[in-house]
Amino acid sequence: MTKYFTNLIKSLKKVSLIDYEVFGHMRRTGDLKLMQELNRSIILDTIRKEGPISRSDIAKLINISPTTVTSAVNDLIQEGYVREDGVGFSSGGRKPVLLRFNPNTRFIIGVSISNSSIKISEMNLEGHIIRKEIHSTNLSQGQDIINLIIKMIKQFLESKENLELCEGISIITPGIVNAKKGIISYNTKLKLYDIPLKQMVENEFGIPTFLDNDTNAYVLAENYFGSFKKYKDLVYITIGDGVGSGIMYNGQIIRGYKGSSGELGHTTIVRGGQKCECGNEGCLENYINWPAIYSQVVTALMTRGKETIIRNLIEGDINRVSPAVFVKALNEGDTLCYQIMEEIVSHLSTSITNFIHLLNPEVIILSGEIVQENSIFLDLLNKYVSKQVIPILKDEVNIQPTSLGAEFEMLGAAAVILQEKYQFTI
Ligand SMILES: [Zn+2]
Repeated sequence: MTKYFTNLIKSLKKVSLIDYEVFGHMRRTGDLKLMQELNRSIILDTIRKEGPISRSDIAKLINISPTTVTSAVNDLIQEGYVREDGVGFSSGGRKPVLLRFNPNTRFIIGVSISNSSIKISEMNLEGHIIRKEIHSTNLSQGQDIINLIIKMIKQFLESKENLELCEGISIITPGIVNAKKGIISYNTKLKLYDIPLKQMVENEFGIPTFLDNDTNAYVLAENYFGSFKKYKDLVYITIGDGVGSGIMYNGQIIRGYKGSSGELGHTTIVRGGQKCECGNEGCLENYINWPAIYSQVVTALMTRGKETIIRNLIEGDINRVSPAVFVKALNEGDTLCYQIMEEIVSHLSTSITNFIHLLNPEVIILSGEIVQENSIFLDLLNKYVSKQVIPILKDEVNIQPTSLGAEFEMLGAAAVILQEKYQFTI
């Protein structure tokens, strides 16, 4: 796909309907091929989302002539992206043949990098995992981890035939990423600064490569695969060792000038508070991340006379204190865990209220081990935020858990590539 074409799609996404002026202009300048490609993408996306669907229903739905639909569908069938599947209802005359997206005709490679692991998988065009490997980073940093990533991809692809059917490699990573240029700009934990990873991987394998920040990928995945397909204004917040967010506004990822949008974890919550690794003081992440919770739990366990169910759950082994144990104790009515949780919620609710006042998202999606199976946390957070927002927004507060499930990383990687290549919602 040409760069020009991608940019055109992006500019068209900004208008609410297909701008026929643009098409008129294209026709005049004779750029029919471009128009055909655009139509084809819209038709494929419609079949993916609405299928099984007949040719005539596609034409009606997206307001394109039946002849154009038929011609594009013929190509798509020939290339294997679409297949005919049964017949539909007819009120008279011939029953229409139904079309369905065929996700298995090509494959994609997803790579998810974290501080501790590199996950690689082969997926079909719906993000279903065909094969997956998880490797430890062995605490590699800097050039070492880059070498390791390329080595892992190489090993993974070695046994794979038909590499020409690979639609691309999609890499997601924490930190500040320049997705357009494919550069990891800044990642203090992995000591990566200005690494042109997209170019490096493309040079090595000759396969189109995509790179994005992980939370941006997750918000895309919630919108592409998850329960939030109908939403256009979403915020995705992840709470783990760090705290990050991905922001989608009017169906587009908000990246900012340097690609650093959504650094929620480093917004100041306590003036003159705890020193943060970013150099600032009082950043949100230091008050609500897992290490903060862990240290409070361990301090309580070591304090004589402090009662907590966790003591029984871990059977005296402090190494067994985990987010799952914490949530279990909370669900069993543990007072200590409730107090810790309430403090976290009070910090987080302030940040989320600020988010709502600045961006007015339709939904805020939370993820992270501490949020899983934790309705107490979500209910409390919804309550606190509802109290803090301006009255007109009170009833609109909508904070929900992630819908992506255990393979969220791979779905994130898949969403980055599929969104870029196929989702041309105008
Ligand atoms: Zn910070």
